[in-house]
Amino acid sequence: MAVPLIQQVRVGAYIVKQHVLGNKRYPLVLMLEPLFRCNLACPGCGKIDYPDAILNRRLSVRECLDAVDECEAPIVSIPGGEPLIHKEIDQIVEGIVARKKFVYLCTNALLLGKKLDLFKPSQYLTFSVHLDGLEEEHDRAVNQKGVFEKAVKAIKAARDRGFRVNVNTTVFDGVTADDIASFFDFANDLGVEGITVSPGYAYERAPDQEHFLSRQKTKTLFRDVFRKGRERDVKWRFSQSSMFLDFLAGNQEYHCTPWGNPTRNVFGWQKPCYLLGEGYVPTFKQLMEETAWDQYGTGNYEKCANCMVHCGYEPTAVNDTIRHSLRALGVALRGVRTEGPMAPEISLEEQRPAEYVFSRHVEKFLDEAHATESEAEAASGTDRSHAA
Ligand code: SF4
Ligand code: SF4
Repeated sequence: MAVPLIQQVRVGAYIVKQHVLGNKRYPLVLMLEPLFRCNLACPGCGKIDYPDAILNRRLSVRECLDAVDECEAPIVSIPGGEPLIHKEIDQIVEGIVARKKFVYLCTNALLLGKKLDLFKPSQYLTFSVHLDGLEEEHDRAVNQKGVFEKAVKAIKAARDRGFRVNVNTTVFDGVTADDIASFFDFANDLGVEGITVSPGYAYERAPDQEHFLSRQKTKTLFRDVFRKGRERDVKWRFSQSSMFLDFLAGNQEYHCTPWGNPTRNVFGWQKPCYLLGEGYVPTFKQLMEETAWDQYGTGNYEKCANCMVHCGYEPTAVNDTIRHSLRALGVALRGVRTEGPMAPEISLEEQRPAEYVFSRHVEKFLDEAHATESEAEAASGTDRSHAA
């Protein structure tokens, strides 16, 4: 089973409670990025293009656990950067597990084999290993030979030691439905708990801008993949809702739910979502209350035009599953529809143009860091003069 029963029950109860309380916007998965530094430099990555002063920043254990308490989401995903580079990652994970929240530690697995001793197997902890395809495809996606082999070895070692492991796959343009289907077969045989799959988001700072999928291509590709699964009668284990997979195959006209996966990183709480850094606020409450949510999403904002990423649309699919549980059950039992007309596409005619704010945020952050350093130096100078 891709998601353990205890997680399904706890998360289901949390969502039902939010609906009963009439909460229109609530978090489902906290995206906690304790650092941006990584030991790879994937061409499709939009997270590591920062100056060293920012790449060297870390959220402390306290800051991470405060974010977990502040946001109250039942699931915490720890992406990055590469979280295993963080020297206190074991304490961060331990603190979240102690709060009985479900942690997905996202890793490229280069350090996983060496660091397994830092962690204890638990139903609350899943290693979510980044694999973008079979050997050739993955090594090309991460721009380094040998990474696939190391990651697979680490996955097997983690499974042998009783850890829960998931694979996390981003799909880019140029990959065929056969490639994806073969990779899903491989992941099933590897014995991982589940597969998380999503089309890549066209990060404006990713070095490779050529290989991101449009929404139309995404839908056609996923229909082809699911059709292949049906023809061969294989059941791939996904750690995602059936309705999200149905959306990927073009059967649902969903709008994104960016507050469903709020992001806390070294800049603060990121507006509006994990994929887009358009502003930062110091508290989760401010994020929820001060973000102009209506200005984002496909049809509203140019940068959202092609987005079908799970962090924006899985919460929509989960809400839909609760609201229309019979329909969702039908999709789960029958499988995703791969023939017939697709749901209407959202019109882009009224979307507002993109604003390019990245350099402004980086400069502001560097100015503040510089000012703090200068104050600290001045204070230590005063202390020294007192001592003298
Ligand atoms: S492993 Fe992940 S964080 Fe690191 S460069 Fe690749 S995509 Fe970015
Ligand atoms: S569509 Fe939604 S999830 Fe995607 S980038 Fe825009 S706000 Fe974020």
